[in-house]
Amino acid sequence: MARRFFIGGNWKCNGTLKSIEDLLSTLNGADLAKPLPEVVVAPTYVHLAWVKSKLREDFAVAAQNSWIKGSGAYTGEISPEILKDLGIPWVILGHSERRTLCSESSQVVADKTKYALDKGLAVILCVGETLEQREAGKTFDTVAEQLKPVAGALSSWTAVVVAYEPVWAIGTGKVATPEQAQEVHAYIRSWLTDNVSPEVSDTTRLIYGGSVTAKNSAELGSAKDIDGFLVGGASLKPDFVEIIKSAP
Ligand code: PEP
Repeated sequence: MARRFFIGGNWKCNGTLKSIEDLLSTLNGADLAKPLPEVVVAPTYVHLAWVKSKLREDFAVAAQNSWIKGSGAYTGEISPEILKDLGIPWVILGHSERRTLCSESSQVVADKTKYALDKGLAVILCVGETLEQREAGKTFDTVAEQLKPVAGALSSWTAVVVAYEPVWAIGTGKVATPEQAQEVHAYIRSWLTDNVSPEVSDTTRLIYGGSVTAKNSAELGSAKDIDGFLVGGASLKPDFVEIIKSAP
């Protein structure tokens, strides 16, 4: 079945009023051929509502994280209910920076994913191995360990996009080869067939993240099981428009 190509831009902890205004004018002014891939950008929380109000209507916004529960006495957190109320449709969960720097376990990521989906958000769920895990031959095991609690928690995957992001490729300039990325995407698809259902495996978009640029996006995007990208560094630059244009 045809899966609509998906391109996410993760702005991480970046942006000033001036740099975001410049980026918005680049994105809003881009002349893009139809049909467009699905394009979603994730500014910081404080910029989110503003970016949403200024961004072209054929692109959407995502939060970079959401709280594991509803609104309440959780200082510094943002609940899926708050995001929903603001009209934010997407959230990124399980990014390796949050798994590593904020000690989010695969179970926490699964619980956050379930809660966000239950409240009506769509989720970009990130998985991926470290260099050490890859070199130890544990890439597939790592990805399976990250997906397992999610499969246990969810009753529907229709609003989930899975981002395979090898940690060694994030922000390093060391992009996975199309063969390396395809191999893991094919594994994730077969894992979904075996552990969720053939239908979920067939319909869920699997996107690649890790040093995607306008130079490598067309080749990566032509791999059979790569349904799009999650882009970090290059999503802050005009390069992002070229990546969108390179979508198959
Ligand atoms: C990311 O942070 O999700 C990412 C893929 O970053 P980069 O494109 O900079 O490697």
